[in-house]
Amino acid sequence: MSDKHHLDTLAIHAGQEPEPKTGAIMTPIYQTSTYVQPAPAEHTGYEYSRTDNPTRTALQDLVAAIEGGRYGLAFASGMAAIDTVLRLLSPGDHVVVGNDVYGGTYRLFEQVYAPLGIEFSWVDLADLDAVRAAYRLQTRLLWLETPTNPLLRLADVAALAETAPDGVWVAVDNTFASPAIQQPLKLGADIVMHSSTKYLGGHSDVVGGVLALNDADLYARLKFLQNAVGAVPGPMDCFLVLRGIKTLSIRMERHSQNALQVARFLEDHPGVGQVLYPGLESHPQYALAQKQMKYPGGMISIILEDDEAARRLVMRTRLFALAESLGGVESLIEHPYSMTHASTASSDIAVDPGLVRLSVGIEHIDDLLDDLRQALSQ
Ligand code: PLP
Repeated sequence: MSDKHHLDTLAIHAGQEPEPKTGAIMTPIYQTSTYVQPAPAEHTGYEYSRTDNPTRTALQDLVAAIEGGRYGLAFASGMAAIDTVLRLLSPGDHVVVGNDVYGGTYRLFEQVYAPLGIEFSWVDLADLDAVRAAYRLQTRLLWLETPTNPLLRLADVAALAETAPDGVWVAVDNTFASPAIQQPLKLGADIVMHSSTKYLGGHSDVVGGVLALNDADLYARLKFLQNAVGAVPGPMDCFLVLRGIKTLSIRMERHSQNALQVARFLEDHPGVGQVLYPGLESHPQYALAQKQMKYPGGMISIILEDDEAARRLVMRTRLFALAESLGGVESLIEHPYSMTHASTASSDIAVDPGLVRLSVGIEHIDDLLDDLRQALSQ
């Protein structure tokens, strides 16, 4: 596979060769912890599966290819991937971070790393002057999500990468979009991160995380940490993400088509206060969405009157299952205030109790609309 192939082709083939002995077209699940060596300190490239495993290598190479990067690294969860990036820092270092992020990211930063002496400034990333003003001599990292979880705000990756002084890594959590929609490394980011639990895996059957990047020194440091810390995924989990990625492009297209119709339906519904979706012209950053994203994605947030209205809706849908997570083929609905973002309660980035988040799946659109119609009816 080479750079000249399109993402749809890379997603199916990159990092994967037929198994040489049998010709098996699917990468085997190398369910082994260790590898027989021909002599002491001589090995085939694989010596112990925390350090490297062939199924993981295939996934890592695939992730690098679809993100347009040189290197990929896979982890046991999205949080383990984020944690490994944060381990690049030392006490006294400073991070600029968008003020709307996944609740678990907020928790890791403020409750695990802040007590260890890393400082965080939570900034509105749409305000480039505020971002520039937030940098300090000690700033080492700019962390952003786009679209954000749960408010579907966008960050202009190219413009933000321009603001970053030398010595500041720009890391983008690309979980909500996936590389089928945007490739942040090509826009100037240094590190792309995913919860591969979501769209990369795509079938709600695995928890995982990945990083993709271009810089050889940074890769060496992260690869060292991957092995030294050891939050690695098992080969079965790597296989599931490998298989999921094969259909990423067509899934993202269908997620986006369905979500646009759902968003329009919700916008016209009298019971819904506000619809947050980058594919709607009413989205404050619609122009940026058109520029940066190939499709608007499958995630929608809506604001209802209050906590009670939000809880009522999530209890009434039948096809949209009430569950945390997102990005699978099936539609999910959740109440961030009491579920995914409960850890931000009483913080500056706490979410509205009336907020409901939908992960629009790839079922037939008429069935999805019928379900929401009945759930919203009095
Ligand atoms: N980043 C985003 C945007 C997420 O939505 C999530 C999980 O919901 C994570 C990171 C963490 O990933 P994981 O749950 O795989 O650890």
